[in-house]
Amino acid sequence: MSVRLGVGYDSHRFAAGRPLRLGGVTIPHTHGLVGHSDGDAVLHAITDALLGAAALGDIGSRFPDTDPQWKGKDSATFVAGAVDALGRSGMAVHQVDVTVIAERPRLAPHVDAMRAATATALRVPVDRVSIKAKTNEGMGWVGRGEGIGVIAVATVRETPA
Ligand code: MG
Repeated sequence: MSVRLGVGYDSHRFAAGRPLRLGGVTIPHTHGLVGHSDGDAVLHAITDALLGAAALGDIGSRFPDTDPQWKGKDSATFVAGAVDALGRSGMAVHQVDVTVIAERPRLAPHVDAMRAATATALRVPVDRVSIKAKTNEGMGWVGRGEGIGVIAVATVRETPA
C-alpha cells in the first residue's frame, strides 16, 4: 500500500456575534470566525491537507471565496469535495491529525464532538481523526484573541486499481 502525506494550515479572524464553527460543530463563544463560508478553520485546514496529499491543488482554487455558491456554506461541503476528488484520483483518506491554536474558548470539552463530526465529513471511523487544542501562551495575534490558527496533517492511501 502506498501512503501519501499532506499538510494544511488555516487561520481566521474572530468577530463578535457570529457562531463559532470548528470541526463541524458550533461551540458556544462570544465571537465566531469571519469567513465567506461558515469560517470553520479546522475543516479548511483538513481540506487543504487532503488536497495537498493528493497534489490536487488547494481549497482556494477549488472553492473560491469570490463564488457566491460557497457563501455561508457548511465547510463539510469542502471536505466532501476533497474526499470525492481523492476518490476520482484513486485515493482514499487514511487519517488526519489536527492542532488548533486558540487562546479561547477552551476547546477540550468539545474535542470529542468535533472529532465525531469531522469523521462523518471525511467518511472515516472516528479513531482515524485526532484533534488537539492548545493556546499560544498569550503570545502574538492568537494570544491577543484576534483569531484562531489550525495545522492539519492527513495521510491518504493510493487504492489498488
Ligand atoms: Mg479558511
